[in-house]
Amino acid sequence: MKLGFSEPQRTFNSGSQTARSITESWVAESMFCPNCGNARLHQFPANRPVADFYCANCNDQYELKSQKKEFGKKLANGAYETKIQRLQSDTSPNLILLKYSLDAAEVRSVCVIPRRFFVPSIVEKRKPLAAKARRAGWVGSNILIGNVPSAGRIYFIQEGVVVPKEDILSQWRKTAFLDEQPPAARGWLADVMSCIDQLEATEFSLEQVYGFERYLRSIYPENNNIRPKIRQQLQFLRDNGYLEFRGNGNYRLIR
Ligand SMILES: [Zn+2]
Repeated sequence: MKLGFSEPQRTFNSGSQTARSITESWVAESMFCPNCGNARLHQFPANRPVADFYCANCNDQYELKSQKKEFGKKLANGAYETKIQRLQSDTSPNLILLKYSLDAAEVRSVCVIPRRFFVPSIVEKRKPLAAKARRAGWVGSNILIGNVPSAGRIYFIQEGVVVPKEDILSQWRKTAFLDEQPPAARGWLADVMSCIDQLEATEFSLEQVYGFERYLRSIYPENNNIRPKIRQQLQFLRDNGYLEFRGNGNYRLIR
């Protein structure tokens, strides 16, 4: 996988249009489909509302976000209602986060978040646009990238270092068990996975995960059984090879 950009095929009026065009070309030339391993991704005709690329083999779709600076904890996304509706559908896109350097004319980092991690708790509703705005009342969304568990951040390139294709495919498959779950169940699983990440340890105890009870209650205010819910997620994650039980309320992540 080469990092450098190809020469732009045409010139654009604005710097952001140029950057958009060269990063799109880079994806079309360089990226494979992490879902099925197919050698390339195809670009949709311009101005599709929610996706930019698709895989002709497995039909997965991809949305590309590219920028010069580091991706923060939040990423502005499209209309809130559209995003939430799309989460419920099978065609919700995977998200490609691409960081580039125009000076070096190359890609610095590429990370793909599989669509299985797009659950309601990571989509934040923004305030409606003010009455004076051109699109007054329009409600946008933010994707809370910071809440996506680390297992849901699959790097192709990390600060200039290319990850081997086999590693990318195996990382992708590792959480494929989430695909069969309905959105509400995926939400709970992804949220508990994200809590476990915050412990920053391979081994941890049930008590430590209970430490997130208040946080989880803030996401699921109607649920009065947070602790049993936590145990249920841990059991499911164990059954799917994500972690193992060590006895006496202790767990270990399987890397
Ligand atoms: Zn594919």
